[in-house]
Amino acid sequence: PIRPRQELDAVDTVCPYCGVGCALTYYVDRSRGAIAFAEGRDQPGSKSRLCVKGRYGWDYAASPQRLTMPLIRKESSYPKGPLSADVRGDAYNDRGRAGAGGDRSAKLSRNGKDRKRKPGGLVDYDEVLPHFREATWEEALDLVARRLKEIHAELGPGAIAGFGSAKCSNEEAYLFQKLIRAGFGTNNVDHCTRLCHASSVAALFEGVGSGAVSTTYGDVANAEVVIITGSNPTANHPVASSFFKQARRRGTKIVYVDPRASTVAEHADYYCQVKPGTDVAFYNAVMHEVIRLGLVDMDFVRERVSGFEELVRTVADYPPERSAQITGVDAGLIREVARVWGEAKAGVIYWGMGISQHTTGTDNARCLIALCSITGNVGRPGTGLHPLRGQNNVQGASDAGLIPMFYPDYQGVDREGTRRRFEQAWGVELDPERGLTVTEIIGSVLKPGGVRGMYMLGENPFLSDPNINKVRKALSQLDFLVVQDIFLTETAEFADVILPASSYLEKDGSYTNTDRRVQLGRKVMDPPGQARVDWEIIQDLARRIGLDWSYASSSEVFDEMVALMPSYANLRHDNLGRTGKLYPNADPEHSDGTVVLFDERFNTDDGLAHLVPAQWLPAKELPDAEYPLVLNTGRLLEHWHTGSMTRRSFALDTISPVAEVYMHPKDAADRGLAHGQTARVRSRRGAIELQVRVSHREQLGNCFIPFHFREAAANLLTIDEIDPYGKIPEFKFCAIQVEALSAE
Ligand code: SF4
Repeated sequence: PIRPRQELDAVDTVCPYCGVGCALTYYVDRSRGAIAFAEGRDQPGSKSRLCVKGRYGWDYAASPQRLTMPLIRKESSYPKGPLSADVRGDAYNDRGRAGAGGDRSAKLSRNGKDRKRKPGGLVDYDEVLPHFREATWEEALDLVARRLKEIHAELGPGAIAGFGSAKCSNEEAYLFQKLIRAGFGTNNVDHCTRLCHASSVAALFEGVGSGAVSTTYGDVANAEVVIITGSNPTANHPVASSFFKQARRRGTKIVYVDPRASTVAEHADYYCQVKPGTDVAFYNAVMHEVIRLGLVDMDFVRERVSGFEELVRTVADYPPERSAQITGVDAGLIREVARVWGEAKAGVIYWGMGISQHTTGTDNARCLIALCSITGNVGRPGTGLHPLRGQNNVQGASDAGLIPMFYPDYQGVDREGTRRRFEQAWGVELDPERGLTVTEIIGSVLKPGGVRGMYMLGENPFLSDPNINKVRKALSQLDFLVVQDIFLTETAEFADVILPASSYLEKDGSYTNTDRRVQLGRKVMDPPGQARVDWEIIQDLARRIGLDWSYASSSEVFDEMVALMPSYANLRHDNLGRTGKLYPNADPEHSDGTVVLFDERFNTDDGLAHLVPAQWLPAKELPDAEYPLVLNTGRLLEHWHTGSMTRRSFALDTISPVAEVYMHPKDAADRGLAHGQTARVRSRRGAIELQVRVSHREQLGNCFIPFHFREAAANLLTIDEIDPYGKIPEFKFCAIQVEALSAE
């Protein structure tokens, strides 16, 4: 029976899923050692709202599948298997095939007793665990330290790399990058920002001198018009989406630009259904029209912008008629959008991974920065640039330096003065060269003289990275892989050592949301078995490789981090309060922090916004006669990334249990496919089988597949071409064919 609220313990923390970072309170029944329910808490960015993931998606932490003991691979299980024993392109498919949506006979039961999954769902514990033996923490950590030190000594710092996680707290991200940099002398440390908004950050850093948003999503209330582009916020940032819809009811105009007609299109005043991969052509045409109509804010441009003349020359080649042919958007609609945006007194652009996850991702973001800048839409309430960050702490993990080119607070590793400062603070010599990114590290493993030893903290590249047969091959060829996670993930199947970590419910730490709001997550319960808090595991490893660390709490780590991060100045665990604080913040005791940045100058060296014009380039792999359709990948409302958490949540998995390919009705009909039928989807890199969902929201010639499902892994199909600046992969465009399974 559920006890009355007054008998439950209320613990304030933060939702672990998307970058909105809703404030929530868990009501804990200590007599059962279990959470009874969750409730949204009032905070400026979430106003007590929660989506289905925040409200119901926490029971995974109590799954009997949690890792509770360190595990060491048995000598007899080398070469690594089971999956890595065969790295041919089709091996993974053969294992994963269990009919559309996988084998549901192993579906979660309500009492949590029958939770083991068979192939087709999550990792098959019965199959994988026999390859490992349980170990003590001493033995496991000693082995990790010894093997990584051996590789380092034999092959040099460049042979070591670390993937951190945006699921970790700021403190954990800070310590992880410090361990790799100070302990192994390399900047080969990155995390999933490389798969999400790395191109946006590259463009923002170059354009305005800061990788963070210039205003909050709540500032939509002060905007006359907003552009929401490359984003399905109803699914991916649900509570932020509710702010957008609410603002429209109060008079804010919404321009929605996206290849998929998500539900936001129904709330938009103008919907531009661009063809995939044509954003540069669309926004260049909008700027062409803004300039032609005389709607440029010339005072702003004269005082605060550089590069305007070159931009004018570039966009002159993009009259709406030409761009209409490229984008598929009517020239009249492009003109109307340009007029509405140009005439508005205040406008914000919110964008998602439909902008960033392209080989032209940085160019796409450059166009958005230019459009805001030439119309003076930065630095005032209701104006600005806002990449909607994906994971709950991807902003914080990037801020904390979990990226190969920057120390904490985006201080360049290749700037000598900066390096000297960090060397002094950390008491070690540091690598002066930029490190490798996530995608480059995977490629490097496959080359002679590349990375040989890896520390993987909470990442699952086996499902999240593009072209996963290549990832699988790389993981199986590492000399040593240590995985620190809460479940036996697909990536952990390749590990030499697995360290049982803690979920967000089991530790104190801070998380920074897409608005730059730093909030405290508080411990709700103890980790299961011998699982440990992540920052303590990192510290124990650091000591074993010779670093003199003695942090007593995550708040002590936070204080050290803040001392090296001017943007976070003045913040402490004890002044973040129940609702967190925005950074920068001159007086956190009395102020919520700064909503609007760049009111007087940008963060660039000369204080100006730097416009960088872009030419439209087609995607790298275009449809042809053999692969006539375009694949777009992304997320569903109910699931999160590689599904290790949400697919173990009873409510979320029940609502959305199977993988589907979303198709335009005509594309489905042309292939003899009906709703619910099983199809085979094939690209040049592999094939998967899954159910068809006929959907009028898809464009003719385009398909959508979420990447959460192991049994129909979308990233088996995706291409590993990357953006040259942000090094982000092309998750939004590759050529595929779809056929009815019975056709063979
Ligand atoms: Fe969690 Fe995002 Fe949903 Fe808020 S909107 S409850 S942060 S998943």
